[in-house]
Amino acid sequence: MTCLFCQIADGTQPADIVYNDDDVIGFRDINPQAPQHVLFIPRRHVGTINDFDSADAALIGRLTLAAQHYAGEQGFDEEGYRVVMNCNRMAGQTVYHVHLHLLAGRPLHWPPG
Ligand code: AMP
Ligand code: ZN
Repeated sequence: MTCLFCQIADGTQPADIVYNDDDVIGFRDINPQAPQHVLFIPRRHVGTINDFDSADAALIGRLTLAAQHYAGEQGFDEEGYRVVMNCNRMAGQTVYHVHLHLLAGRPLHWPPG
């Protein structure tokens, strides 16, 4: 099976990687929706949020902590940012390897579209 984000994780597909740890990588979204738009993914393939189970609780937390770390490092943590994960068709998921979007650098409206 060919998965674009698995290929980014294993280095066979180029990406602008801005965060790296043993379990998670973060890279710039190719079609940014805000001045800062980074995707955090587990290195291991997980298709959607629906595929997580209780054994993945720490991994799910690490995705958020990676985003928190990046926001602090970049200095927009106090100003604010949004994290979002889209699950399946109605939410607009287009890449079926789970990813946490981090958006920042402009006012973000609510409710989202
Ligand atoms: P979603 O719609 O939640 O599945 O988000 C998928 C995101 O992946 C979109 O924001 C795309 O712009 C982004 N994307 C797709 N291909 C790439 C790529 N090769 N490198 C970086 N981001 C990508
Ligand atoms: Zn994958």
